[in-house]
Amino acid sequence: MKDLKEKLNTSIILITHDLGVVADLCSRIIVMYGGVIVEEGTTDDIFYSPRHPYTWGLLNSIPKVSLGTREKLIPIEGSPPDLLKPPAGCPFAARCDYAMRICAEKMPEYYEVGDGHRSMCWLLHPDAPEMDFTGKGVRANA
Ligand code: SF4
Repeated sequence: MKDLKEKLNTSIILITHDLGVVADLCSRIIVMYGGVIVEEGTTDDIFYSPRHPYTWGLLNSIPKVSLGTREKLIPIEGSPPDLLKPPAGCPFAARCDYAMRICAEKMPEYYEVGDGHRSMCWLLHPDAPEMDFTGKGVRANA
């Protein structure tokens, strides 16, 4: 695919849950959940500085290739929302460990967290409880 991209001087849009492939092939990542874009940024933004709980869940659920360690994968508990009856608030609220009351009531806004990096999460609202985002990407400590 990389060769084809170079040869044809084109772009490739890859739709997948396989973040290993994404890390190798993509320069920008759009993370979608429940039919909406919940986070968008460069590959480095998403792997080293993710700002959305669903992105954290995705990163935690892929195996790390670290020699000498046996770590459990952490699944995202629960099921996706019924898109025939979409929730009023954040589509990830029912599965989110960080959900607050507003999350179930109102769709979050997008917050710019870097140059071309944005996330749709109430945790980024200036009035949200203080949150330590350090180390939320599995790659940050790999
Ligand atoms: S808006 Fe709320 S429920 Fe949605 S991802 Fe952020 S903290 Fe979780």
